[in-house]
Amino acid sequence: MYDKYSMVADEFISDDEINETLKYADENKSNRELLSAILDKARKRKGLDHREASVLLACDLPDINDEIFRLAGEIKKDFYGDRIVMFAPLYLSNYCVNGCVYCPYHAKNKHIARKKLTQDEIRAEVIALQDMGHKRLALETGEDPVNCPIEYVLESIKTIYSIKHKNGAIRRVNVNIAATTVENYRKLKEAGIGTYILFQETYHKKSYLQLHPTGPKHDYNYHTEAMDRAMEGGIDDVGCGVLFGLELYRYEFAGLLKHAEHLEAVHGVGPHTISVPRIKHADDIDPSVFDNGIDDETFLKIIACIRVAVPYTGMIISTRENKNVRERALKAGISQISGGSRTSVGGYAEEEEEDENSSQFDVSDNRTLDEVVKWLIDLGYVPSFCTACYREGRTGDRFMSLCKSGQIQNCCLPNALMTLKEYLMDYASPETRKAGEELIMREVDDIPNPRTREFAERHLEEIGNGERDFRF
Ligand code: SAM
Repeated sequence: MYDKYSMVADEFISDDEINETLKYADENKSNRELLSAILDKARKRKGLDHREASVLLACDLPDINDEIFRLAGEIKKDFYGDRIVMFAPLYLSNYCVNGCVYCPYHAKNKHIARKKLTQDEIRAEVIALQDMGHKRLALETGEDPVNCPIEYVLESIKTIYSIKHKNGAIRRVNVNIAATTVENYRKLKEAGIGTYILFQETYHKKSYLQLHPTGPKHDYNYHTEAMDRAMEGGIDDVGCGVLFGLELYRYEFAGLLKHAEHLEAVHGVGPHTISVPRIKHADDIDPSVFDNGIDDETFLKIIACIRVAVPYTGMIISTRENKNVRERALKAGISQISGGSRTSVGGYAEEEEEDENSSQFDVSDNRTLDEVVKWLIDLGYVPSFCTACYREGRTGDRFMSLCKSGQIQNCCLPNALMTLKEYLMDYASPETRKAGEELIMREVDDIPNPRTREFAERHLEEIGNGERDFRF
């Protein structure tokens, strides 16, 4: 029985209800009247439920599809302006006891080099990341209670926050580790994490059980109910996602939105972010054996439909995607991207080229962070290294109400410009700095509130004079 208020995964996801949704979406994929009514609702910028959004995703009328993309771009502009938040993943350990058949970390993979960073190695990685200009990280580990216990993750977070190299600092550590207990989530909260990220991989229970044949991750309900435990443990911001390619994308899309509806219904706040990873080649992993791979057009339409369905939710794209797809994805609704990423344990501090053998997946965008920043500026975006909301306690429903009030432009744009200015002063190449300075001059005029604008102008000047870390 479907019940979004239930705390049991099978009930708030409900396989039967998703199948009915998919049937309904299929029956209405050319129903112009219904599609137009759904678009009218979406134009109010209050979102759509999973059934309405699934009809848009199924839509096969070219003009309506164009309108979905146009509206997604418009909604993105309304909520995020030109800002794109920057981050990098940091792989701490690839020891893993699970058997996930799509992941090179799976326990039976004997040829991947297993590695866990020492605190000194973490220091070296963080210094390398700070020297690139990063301020926000996503920690990644495999699941291994012996080699990578929660105490190790907590100690690593402490180490990361403690490192102040030159003008560098990591100001927000998001964490992508396996589903765990309320008690451990409470410890992560106390350690000062930003978002707790956990990809569902697939919402389809039967497939999930086959794709995760062994190890603690095999437990579908424990995994699917993790966000509820995280919120019970005091974590305000959670990040969802599915690994596209494992199951039918329409099923995953409906499951993802139902998960968001469940979190909103029960905790009063939906996911802070949604990630859209697609399965990639990796050591011991051939993505072509998974027969639900999606082409770029479908992938972009999924992004646009998520954007329209949950306007307040940040959307993340990684370097699993190439430059071209990332550029189009930004237009369709993505608000956060990684740059200069290494997906192997110890990949940032290592002198030589990344050891593909220990990477979690092959990276499709190998540009440096500076190249990504310059590219974004040239496209008219404002690369933002801002972490202010979380540091000011604007998390969970407080962040969402700021978003919903429309005041975010007065808050986020100045913060984005000030953190971009720091980046330009400390890390950018001369070309990037020039392009960035011109962008800041243009964008500062777009801050609606005159007092906020004056605040930003004053601090931008002070950053130019060597001061750091202002926030609104
Ligand atoms: N081990 C943690 C867990 O159990 O949730 C998460 C960390 S894992 C380093 C991050 C994510 O990488 C996984 O949740 C999965 O979606 C994704 N991933 C695994 N194998 C992949 C592959 N071959 N291509 C693309 N992404 C992959």
